[in-house]
Amino acid sequence: MAGKRKRNLTRGLRFRLTAGYALFFTVLLIGMAGLLRARLATLIDAQAHTTLDQEWAAIKGYLRVETYGHNPPEASWYYDEHDPDENYIVERMRRVYLLTDANGKIVDNQVSTAYRNLGIDAPADIQQLVKQILASYAPGSPGKAFWTVRRNPQGAPYLIRSGIVFDEHNHAPYYLAIGTALSENYKILNEFTWVFVIIIPASLILGSLLGWFMAGRALEPVLAVAQTAQRISGSNLSLRIPTRGASDELDYLILTFNRMIERLEASFRQMKQFSTDVSHELRTPITAIRGQLEVALFTAKTTEQYHEAMVNALQDIDRLSQIVRALLLLSQAESGQLVLQKSSVDLRELIRDLVEQFQIPAEAESVRLIADAPYECPAEVDRVQVERMITNLLSNAIKFTPEGGEVRVKLRSQSGSAEIIVEDTGRGIPKEYLPHIFDRFYRVPGSGTAPGPDQGLGLGLSFVAWIVKAHNGTVDVESSPGQGTRFAIHLPAGQAAASTKELVVSRS
Ligand code: ADP
Repeated sequence: MAGKRKRNLTRGLRFRLTAGYALFFTVLLIGMAGLLRARLATLIDAQAHTTLDQEWAAIKGYLRVETYGHNPPEASWYYDEHDPDENYIVERMRRVYLLTDANGKIVDNQVSTAYRNLGIDAPADIQQLVKQILASYAPGSPGKAFWTVRRNPQGAPYLIRSGIVFDEHNHAPYYLAIGTALSENYKILNEFTWVFVIIIPASLILGSLLGWFMAGRALEPVLAVAQTAQRISGSNLSLRIPTRGASDELDYLILTFNRMIERLEASFRQMKQFSTDVSHELRTPITAIRGQLEVALFTAKTTEQYHEAMVNALQDIDRLSQIVRALLLLSQAESGQLVLQKSSVDLRELIRDLVEQFQIPAEAESVRLIADAPYECPAEVDRVQVERMITNLLSNAIKFTPEGGEVRVKLRSQSGSAEIIVEDTGRGIPKEYLPHIFDRFYRVPGSGTAPGPDQGLGLGLSFVAWIVKAHNGTVDVESSPGQGTRFAIHLPAGQAAASTKELVVSRS
């Protein structure tokens, strides 16, 4: 269990965010520290060189080497001994220095203790160096300088600048080396390094803690989404996750999630309603059959009475199987199992045939039925389904139009689409019921809606809606109570009718 948790922890987004953040800053800080340290080292080094260059230039003003006859050369320092500044300057120059002749012999004891500690240069080296400098020497030029870093027995480093100076009288060359301790500079660099060695881990720990905290806060809504999602089941689809009002990506996620649940809730509600409706629809004829058979069993005496009871029962059984068949077909259609068999169909001919067929029932209802399809209109459609669609609309129109009324089927062809209009002068549909008429089992409440053998199943328009949708068409309804209803269907006519337009139901 603990192992699982540990693995989950390191796999978690929060951990990975923090680790990525920490890694990035580690690399950044170390890189920056390295760069700064290198830059600082260069600057310090350059400064040490400049200092020694300046001292070298100054020393020529204070130090003179003179030779008188065959006597050994003498070195003297010329400066105002009473001037504390000059004293200080000369003292500093003489801290690390060595003066020899061109053969490497120390002149007039001119060597400081500090230099002696570093080790006096070998005469051969000095001779070679002097030769080298003289070879490239041009009067008036600064003269070649040699730079070395040496350590005294204690390991302290010194930067040494060496070159040549000339005698006052006979211009003989002398070897001069001056130096400066680098330990201060190294100390600065070390301190700098230590500061970073302390600062980097400390800021990393702090940064990681901050990152962990921030990642946790940022991911909180995600966890909330997950927890809510876990609690959601078919019975509590009303749960919603509150947004944080930040209008950020997470709020967008929450909104999307909430909308998804809303849709789920709607379809769950629809499914519940549907199963309630189905059981209700099935129960009514079953109860009727049972009642008729019971009455016949207990009260019928003659053969005619039995016969009548059986005829009634059969009528109800017919209705039952009609419902079951229609439902089966509808569910097949909606689950995509019913595939359209498209072929080229002349809609004018189809409409005229159907209107022909409906003349007798229309006459029986004393309703005038007119086909208004003046032009040929070929379309790539499923003939059986389009017939079913128009049949459903026509039978509704005739059924809901009182005596003396009129039902008209119009066909218009527009650029690339066909428009089929079924309009009547019937009782119309009140505005508030319009949004529901395409629902399964929905019948507009009002006159003559009590379920019975003559009553529709409330499935006709569901079929219409599915057929229109399957053909990528649209259906619009306009209706005024007491004046009539108008269903207008647009079907893409050509083969290129595969647009993904959704079913649109406009209400008037
Ligand atoms: P039904 O089998 O009841 O006709 P439908 O799905 O075809 O079922 O229609 C649903 C309801 O819409 C009908 O019960 C009716 O109330 C209303 N309706 C459909 N067509 C018309 C129409 N042309 N005029 C008035 N009401 C209509």
